[in-house]
Amino acid sequence: MSQQAHFLSIEQLSASDSFILFYSSQILVRDQHILWNLDQLSKHLTDSADLILLERTDESSVIAVSLEEDISEHLQAELNSLRSILFFTDQEKFLLAGRASQLIEWYKSHRFCGTCGTETTHHRNERTLVCDACSLHFFPRISPCVIMLITKGDQMLLAKSARFNANFYSCLAGFIEIGETPEQTVHREVMEEVNVKVKNIRYISSQSWPFPSQLMLGFLAEYESGEIIPEPTEIADAKWYDINSLPNVPSEKISVAGKLIRTFIDEVKKTQTD
Ligand SMILES: [Zn+2]
Repeated sequence: MSQQAHFLSIEQLSASDSFILFYSSQILVRDQHILWNLDQLSKHLTDSADLILLERTDESSVIAVSLEEDISEHLQAELNSLRSILFFTDQEKFLLAGRASQLIEWYKSHRFCGTCGTETTHHRNERTLVCDACSLHFFPRISPCVIMLITKGDQMLLAKSARFNANFYSCLAGFIEIGETPEQTVHREVMEEVNVKVKNIRYISSQSWPFPSQLMLGFLAEYESGEIIPEPTEIADAKWYDINSLPNVPSEKISVAGKLIRTFIDEVKKTQTD
């Protein structure tokens, strides 16, 4: 990482900087815009706000602000969930807001050393929190996950989650456990969630998914054997779908699940026209 402080003070801010504001895990939005300038903020920023550098170019920086007070009314802004901005902002800004949210949460939850309880300090040059008492370094963490579309001929297996009240069907997904390769996780999760054995696992694409801090690795996997039996605490419903009669599925514009579905449809159509 380059030589720069990642945790800033108010004196280090400049008029050309842009800001992403969070209060109580929600993002401040006005007219579908999430970036603010110093002019708009300066009166309302207090020393208690955490200022976290996200990006720096020669001319300006993008800074995540974790507000201690709700200033949304002063800015005529709304407090929105991070998830809700997926639907109106572009991918670049969404990634930026996702990084901001994850770093803010990470700083908040690592104020003290997990070994000895001493208050942590910011490393001078790196995005790291340090315990001076036991010389431990804490780095921002992500949780790797696999997401997979199971295919059988021209059909795909889509499932509805039992955990949240989803009105759409999507791919299966799960966290990679310690000691597993992503491919092993695909085998295990598919067996656990729908009782199906898969083969020919193929990596397609990945996505940072900040809910709260996942890295999604997307795969296509072919059906090998087994009858679908959904695991009821995870899966409300799971079925084979023909590419021409799909239920409501996630958009390829916002999620790797949508991209996996689109990739498979394109591959099937290509073999049909060849
Ligand atoms: Zn310690």
